[in-house]
Amino acid sequence: MVSWDDYHFFYSDHYEVELDPNHRFPMNKYSLLRKSLIEKGIVKNSQIIAADLINIDHLYLAHTPDYIEQVLDLSLSRQKARAIGLPLTEEMVRRALGSQGAFWQAITSSLDTGFSASLAGGTHHAHADSGEGFCFFNDFAVNVRRLHRERPGYKILILDLDVHQGNGNSSILNKDKDVFITSYHGKHNYPYRKVPSHLDRSFADGTGDEEYLRTLSEDLSKFSKMGFQHLLYQAGVDSLKGDAFGKLSMSHEGLKERDRMVFEFAKRNQIPVTMALGGGYSKDIAETVKAYTGTYEMAKKVF
Ligand SMILES: [Zn+2]
Repeated sequence: MVSWDDYHFFYSDHYEVELDPNHRFPMNKYSLLRKSLIEKGIVKNSQIIAADLINIDHLYLAHTPDYIEQVLDLSLSRQKARAIGLPLTEEMVRRALGSQGAFWQAITSSLDTGFSASLAGGTHHAHADSGEGFCFFNDFAVNVRRLHRERPGYKILILDLDVHQGNGNSSILNKDKDVFITSYHGKHNYPYRKVPSHLDRSFADGTGDEEYLRTLSEDLSKFSKMGFQHLLYQAGVDSLKGDAFGKLSMSHEGLKERDRMVFEFAKRNQIPVTMALGGGYSKDIAETVKAYTGTYEMAKKVF
């Protein structure tokens, strides 16, 4: 019998990056979350592990050689670098590789215990030959391909509840066998050109909790009959009311209910869950950290 203390979580913010304090990306949210989880007694220090860098070879499973090499040697064109929205520096690239490593370690750990998470990542906007939306390399695409190489035919559900459509997941993985991609997102949120996934749920501005949770409940009961063997959960909290980049106006309670439903679904169907952090950009970053923390509180209740 596995208990909560047996679950492990992987972080990558020990690969330090200094951003201009006026930069619109809240780089400090990762370490703030880690602190919040410990201070609130939700996880113990022994449960959180500093992630290793991914072995570069694995990136080639989902990205083109030119793109990988240009990111690694910092020679990406200025235009392509600008689309990512984060400075192309050695530190930043190391962090991106650490975040990839964290997701793979979390996948491996969840195969043993049934549940694990990366305290980073969810880089669902990166395409095979380009990055965008704060994403250099796509942790879902790289690691789904890696998992499938080890376990051919393994049926994976990607449930992407970040407020932004997972265009990179779709552009890379849409034609792969044995992966089913679901994206819930704001219709008028970035990316403005969505790339169809297997199931897209597109919500109007200000949708709020009720319609969102009703849709999720219906979809999860369908998923229960589809024979999935693993859930990769993009648990972004940028659908929270007041998020600078999200328009769905969900409440903290609504997000916790969302997470409860997802975790219960996995538990009921005995599917291992690997979670990635995803987006969160509240004007007051404490709100985002509170929402991320809420996800872990709910996980602890359910698992
Ligand atoms: Zn997002």
